[in-house]
Amino acid sequence: MMKLVIVGGGHAAAQIATSLRMKKFVGDVAIVSDEPVVPYQRPPLSKMYLSGEISAERLPILREQAYEGANIQLKLGARASTINRDAKTLCLADGETMPYDKLILAVGGHARRLSCKGADLAGIHYVRTMTDTDAMRGEFNTAKRIVIIGGGYIGLEVAAVARKAGKAVTVLEATDRILARVVAPEVSDFYTQLHRQEGVTIHTGEMVTEIEGNDRATAVITASGERFESDMIVAGIGLVPNIELAADAGVAASATGIEVNAHCQTSDPDIYAVGDVAWFNHPFYRRGMRLESVQNAVDQAKVAVEHIMGDDATYDALPWFWSDQYGLKLQIAGLSEGYDTLVVRGNPEERSVAFFYMRDGKMLAADCVGRVAEFMNAKKLIAARIDIDVSLLKDESRPFKEIAAEILSV
Ligand SMILES: Cc1cc2nc3c(=O)[nH]c(=O)nc-3n(C[C@H](O)[C@H](O)[C@H](O)COP(=O)(O)OP(=O)(O)OC[C@H]3O[C@@H](n4cnc5c(N)ncnc54)[C@H](O)[C@@H]3O)c2cc1C
Repeated sequence: MMKLVIVGGGHAAAQIATSLRMKKFVGDVAIVSDEPVVPYQRPPLSKMYLSGEISAERLPILREQAYEGANIQLKLGARASTINRDAKTLCLADGETMPYDKLILAVGGHARRLSCKGADLAGIHYVRTMTDTDAMRGEFNTAKRIVIIGGGYIGLEVAAVARKAGKAVTVLEATDRILARVVAPEVSDFYTQLHRQEGVTIHTGEMVTEIEGNDRATAVITASGERFESDMIVAGIGLVPNIELAADAGVAASATGIEVNAHCQTSDPDIYAVGDVAWFNHPFYRRGMRLESVQNAVDQAKVAVEHIMGDDATYDALPWFWSDQYGLKLQIAGLSEGYDTLVVRGNPEERSVAFFYMRDGKMLAADCVGRVAEFMNAKKLIAARIDIDVSLLKDESRPFKEIAAEILSV
């Protein structure tokens, strides 16, 4: 019987359990997670779980009984510390040694920490785990002024929740626009307007140099000399992939992630890596990347399980992602890097708009705000890699589904 050990208790691990159950895997399976709870949904941590709209009971991806039913041993609160590749064993921090035939590293990453003066003061929060959000909640309820460092998705989602709760919210972004790494300037403008209309103060080009305070953070100082007083600080400044377990065992990994091939296998064919930690060559975009999304964690988990079970599965999924702010759903299909033209469908003022990223007349990606049909059909248009008459994309007199069908029928 094959011994399969999974390290990590996040989205990828839960999907591995689901896939093993669906494919009727016969073997010994264990999930080793350093978190004390069953794998849960991470996206609500900066959205409805932070706002209190959903409770902890709603977060688990699968109930504990589902793992038992599938004969999957759940080792919670257990940290994997070393891999012995010669002996094919995994050592846990508590001294236990677990033999494996195949090992899947679904270890995700941790929130990048501030490194400036005052970064270790109390009152500075990061949002990666349920424990993080639980720790924030008490202060969040009483804080009047919240400073958010980082104008990425997580920072902006926390800003939206905080504004809805009536806080004075300031977002400090080091680059010249929010969401600069992932969207076009027009989309950054849309989100800047949205947050300003909702009452958030956004400062761009503000690099944090110091957190002020005695035993608790009370203000944020930036390179321009500005001082922003705060009762609470939330930093959303990126993710650092957890590569140490692999790297220490001599598995190919670097600061960008653990390297995997199209089957999600690392440089050691008996060790796989999936999800936020995996660095892979995307066949569609033909470049190396690491993706931080539920969809990627789920799809790579499926590929790893299928490959372990003898199928020639390869990863070729089109990336997609979502974000919720002020009840508006942003759905993103594809990656926009390298676009030459941006086509706008709809009216940003009405908070219902799709932005299509084109390159050489073909669709590369789409950011859809409150536009489900555009998102669903953009995925097909991107995958088809066909020439598109952009005037069709803008034509609001016809449903987008019909337009996409016409384009795809040529
Ligand atoms: C606040 C927040 C909001 C998000 N919102 C969205 C969203 O709206 N849409 C979207 O698509 N994605 C979103 N994401 C990203 C998404 O949650 C991640 O892409 C996804 O969780 C990745 O799954 P994973 O299994 O690879 O890693 P994770 O879910 O991070 O799981 C990794 C697990 O491994 C454990 N672990 C690490 N090292 C060890 C070790 N040595 N031993 C034992 N256990 C270990 C960790 O504690 C963790 O439980 C969000 C993420 C956060 C934090």
